[in-house]
Amino acid sequence: MIRRFPHLPIKSKLNIALLLSSGIAVAVLFLVMLVNNTQRLRNEAVAQISILAQVTATNSQAAVTFNDPAAATETLAALRVKPEILAAEIRDSKHQRFAVYRGANAPSDFHFKPVDRTSFWDRVIVISRPIVVDKEPIGQLWIAADLSDLFSVLRGEMLALAIAALVAFGVANLVTNRFRTLIADPIEEVARTAQAIATDQDFSRRVALTRRIANDEVGQLIDTFNKMVGQIEDRETRLRGELERRRLAEKKLEQLAHYDTLTGLPNRFLFEQTLALTLERARGLGHQVALLFIDVDNFKLVNDSLGHATGDILLKMFAQRLTKSLRASDIVSRLGGDEFTVIIDQLKGPEHLKPIADKLVAAIAKPIQLGDREIYATASIGIALFPDHAGDADSLVRYADATMYVAKARGRANYQFFSPEIHDRASGRLKLETQLRRAIERNELFVVYQPQIDLASGRMIGCEALVRWKNLELGAVSPADFIPVAEETGLIHPIGEFVMETACRQAKRWIDEQGASLRMSVNISIRQFGTAQFTEKVGALLERTGMPAQLLELELTESCTMENVEDTLNKLRALRELGARFSIDDFGTGYSSMTYLKQLPVSIVKVDQSFVRGIPASNADMEIVRAVLLVARGLKLETVAEGVETAEQARFLAAEGCNIAQGYYFSRPVSADEITTMLRPRLAQAARAG
Ligand code: C2E
Ligand code: MG
Ligand code: MG
Repeated sequence: MIRRFPHLPIKSKLNIALLLSSGIAVAVLFLVMLVNNTQRLRNEAVAQISILAQVTATNSQAAVTFNDPAAATETLAALRVKPEILAAEIRDSKHQRFAVYRGANAPSDFHFKPVDRTSFWDRVIVISRPIVVDKEPIGQLWIAADLSDLFSVLRGEMLALAIAALVAFGVANLVTNRFRTLIADPIEEVARTAQAIATDQDFSRRVALTRRIANDEVGQLIDTFNKMVGQIEDRETRLRGELERRRLAEKKLEQLAHYDTLTGLPNRFLFEQTLALTLERARGLGHQVALLFIDVDNFKLVNDSLGHATGDILLKMFAQRLTKSLRASDIVSRLGGDEFTVIIDQLKGPEHLKPIADKLVAAIAKPIQLGDREIYATASIGIALFPDHAGDADSLVRYADATMYVAKARGRANYQFFSPEIHDRASGRLKLETQLRRAIERNELFVVYQPQIDLASGRMIGCEALVRWKNLELGAVSPADFIPVAEETGLIHPIGEFVMETACRQAKRWIDEQGASLRMSVNISIRQFGTAQFTEKVGALLERTGMPAQLLELELTESCTMENVEDTLNKLRALRELGARFSIDDFGTGYSSMTYLKQLPVSIVKVDQSFVRGIPASNADMEIVRAVLLVARGLKLETVAEGVETAEQARFLAAEGCNIAQGYYFSRPVSADEITTMLRPRLAQAARAG
């Protein structure tokens, strides 16, 4: 018990302590009472018997004096009334037995043992008194009394006392029980709560603080405990919040790392991983896998002209349409921009791809309602197969990509399967792109000028600046080949600026050095024109080069002006404000109508060389040229015919009212120096005239 004591619950400890203390108290009280009562009763008995002895001694004086034992015996016999008196004896002065009394309870052989003092423990007490006459002792009286009866009284008293003590003990226990509950229960509650918090980590738990203990140490303990748990809870909440935020951030990063934020589709990274896995599995199982490379036609144009917000909406729409057109097992990803891919695993055979590709082309081609306007978009799809076309992911992607460009070149809104020729083109294009990136810094680009001839006077009134690229590895590359690449890669911006700047400086030099105010036509790519700062850039350029604005003519293609009409109009007006003029290049090849042209502040229409080439062989082409010239005149637009290669074409155009002609018949695009040489006779003529 004692050894287990430290492990006992506090309630048991308190129980033991309280029971022990109240038990000891009651026991001590009981003992004291016992001793005290015994002593008291005994003293009373001794006193009584002493008086009896004194009285008997006095009564016996005469009998002893007159030596009358019979009388003495009679005197002693009076003691019979006291049953506790066991025996009595009178002895004379010579200590001889004089008279004897034996009580009914006395043993027959009772002998007095003379005692000086009675002991506490003795059951039988003996009292002796001298019998004195005239101060002379004449004998001695002994009385022996049995105190057993006294002890039975004492027993009764002590029993009552014991019962009283037990009742007191019980009551004390009941009272202390209340206090014990008051102390132990809250402490146990603290212990239980602490235990529970430790096991289930629920820091919202608190120990109830009752009014009765609020102000004592246990109350303070509970208060402090609760505050402490509160602080832990706060910290825990903060920590949990922090952890949750971190988890979300990690999830977000994970999402960002693998998924395209705009469309929610897998991004390039996840696409590459998925493709690698898919091919690995396909290799093992002997499956066929198709990779579709999808590019939305003219998306850059839409994005540049309608704004990025609209572009984003369209991309989301495309993503939805692609996903909806395919099975769940086909994986659609967005590689960036308007480039999407589809991985079709476990292909049953290439013939199954046709309906899928048709469906995708049709899905994209459905008109998109944006507010009150309808937007049409088409997609070009390049398809490459594993393992038929490529045995690894890298080549498969490259081939599908290259095939997509072929699809685009073949008139958009269609799809194309990979072929060996595309392979050759693809590697060529990659080389072109790599070289083009270095072309500007290596000074490989330069500008040539093609004269524009006034058909009425036969004089050169201006020229068109045309960019040229001569690369060590690739040789001379036609702008028809590298301008589309430059547009896709964004290289068109530095290239376009280089051409415009060079052309303007050159025009200014001809004014300054030759006194020739030649008009300068510069081709503007739709991507250049689409940028927000285009107007400012042209303004800054005119200022920088000192080129008179009214000599600058910007050539735009029809598609350039047709997309975001609002934006186009604003830019055209702003540039016109500066004094610059616009021409519509390659007119007739696009879809714009003459009535649409009427709305635009353009000054010149360039009849596309494909129609001019048909003169005089194709009646249809001649009709078109005639119609264009007629309407242009009606709209008070100047006309320039491109690609004039023969005198006959020049004559026809002049007869039909075309203002200006440009073509090999007059001159190929030539260097600035050659133009300067062409200008000399004019300078001399002017000098003569002057
Ligand atoms: P374009 O603006 O329509 O330019 C006229 C093209 O026709 C030039 O080809 C020119 O060399 C060619 N040409 C001129 N006369 C004749 C002819 O009598 N017969 C034939 N068959 N062709 C003739 P080039 O220089 O190869 O340019 C092709 C296209 O590249 C240009 O078409 C233009 O769209 C684009 N381009 C050229 N330079 C630039 C430039 O600096 N910036 C931009 N954005 N595009 C340019
Ligand atoms: Mg042009
Ligand atoms: Mg042209």
